[in-house]
Amino acid sequence: MIHLQPSWAWTPEGVLQDPIVSIDDGFIVRCSAAERYPPVHLERLPGRLLMPGFVDAHSHAFQRAFRGWVQGRGQSHDDFWSWRRAMYGVANRLSPEGVYAVSRLAFLELVEAGVTEVGEFHYLHHQPSGQPYEDPEELSARVLEAASSVGIRITLLYVVYGRGGIGRELSPEQRRFASRDPEQALQAVERLRRRGPAQARIGLAPHSVRAIPPSWWPEFASFDGVVHVHTSEQPVEVQDCLSEVGMTPIELLAHHGLLGPSFTAVHLTHPRGRDLELMRGRSSNLAVCPSTELDLGDGFLPLEARRGIHLCVGSDSHARTDPFEEIRALELHARALGGVRNVMSPIDDGPESLAAALLRIGSAGGARALGAPAPAIAVGHAADLVAIDLRRPAALGSPPLTAAAFSATREWVDAVWVGGRQVVRDGRHEHRDAICAAAVGWLGVPDLRASSEP
Ligand SMILES: [Zn+2]
Repeated sequence: MIHLQPSWAWTPEGVLQDPIVSIDDGFIVRCSAAERYPPVHLERLPGRLLMPGFVDAHSHAFQRAFRGWVQGRGQSHDDFWSWRRAMYGVANRLSPEGVYAVSRLAFLELVEAGVTEVGEFHYLHHQPSGQPYEDPEELSARVLEAASSVGIRITLLYVVYGRGGIGRELSPEQRRFASRDPEQALQAVERLRRRGPAQARIGLAPHSVRAIPPSWWPEFASFDGVVHVHTSEQPVEVQDCLSEVGMTPIELLAHHGLLGPSFTAVHLTHPRGRDLELMRGRSSNLAVCPSTELDLGDGFLPLEARRGIHLCVGSDSHARTDPFEEIRALELHARALGGVRNVMSPIDDGPESLAAALLRIGSAGGARALGAPAPAIAVGHAADLVAIDLRRPAALGSPPLTAAAFSATREWVDAVWVGGRQVVRDGRHEHRDAICAAAVGWLGVPDLRASSEP
């Protein structure tokens, strides 16, 4: 049994001061106000705020491999599509060992930033030639193993990829992602579910409307689990979908019965028509990835999409890994777009209500999108916890939750527990050095001139 006593704990009842949080067998068994006779082995966490862990709803771990290598203009025009060409170069260079090593690095960074569960949108399946590995789920298994070795929970979202674009065959660079047909992808999901590990969830991720032939969508409507789709990230994708089927991507997915509480649209930076109304009406989730959307020039989620829709956040391309920045950006971008303040918390029910709303998006919002239990510091919940250190000038005088939501960065994370096991202590994962050393040979980007057009 572990007994923690932080200066503050954010619980469903609000912020408790000097509480005692007891953990047994991975679960919270007590969360009470300070006691006159506390347990003997009490781990005091002075100046720390204890919060539920963040849940990152959208990650492509392998993209961590080229952070910092696509920030200069290598060609006359640089945009989402030229970035994608560089990404394909990296995607095709990683062996199973490389996928494992880079995924471990990405997950290490996530957990050190306070993320206790990740939704990994995984689309590297085959050898670069398109030939399946002897074990057809080799790379999915490597990613699951990477998460488990780092100690982060994972929902692996198995990606279906059927074509290179509307009316286009897969390009040579996309062969690694290919699904032969919907049945093959659904069978892979079933095999992954059977082989485990038991604590990993497996969801389905038809990549995007551009990568899925329209005739495939009905096959996914009855899927038993969460479904995530990249949706309306770029204006051209919406335009192409309108030309092909006369509907926006969200209208097309709604038409095929995919929208619902288990559905997550990723990005939706360019909603059109009835998209937002459909998302609200079907109680669907929207994964926003502000740092990547800024990095790629995707645009801003419109102001009206930030209200009345179940939001969550994702690190996506791992251009930067900081859930505090992602949740904060949701509110700050909304202010810049709308010329108003406190957008995400329209009703003022206290000085910390906005901070709590943003932190909830970062934790419970992500869990909802992954079909996972909502993290909370309450009896019976898994002990997925983050302690941030508020003993610093930048936090002085701020209410604790507001400091977390509006000032904190990943560097403030002091300790992380996943299922009651402490995986980060004094801001460091116990295997940080070894994980970094194993990944370093896989980082960087190949010569872009060698890549053909997408
Ligand atoms: Zn993505």
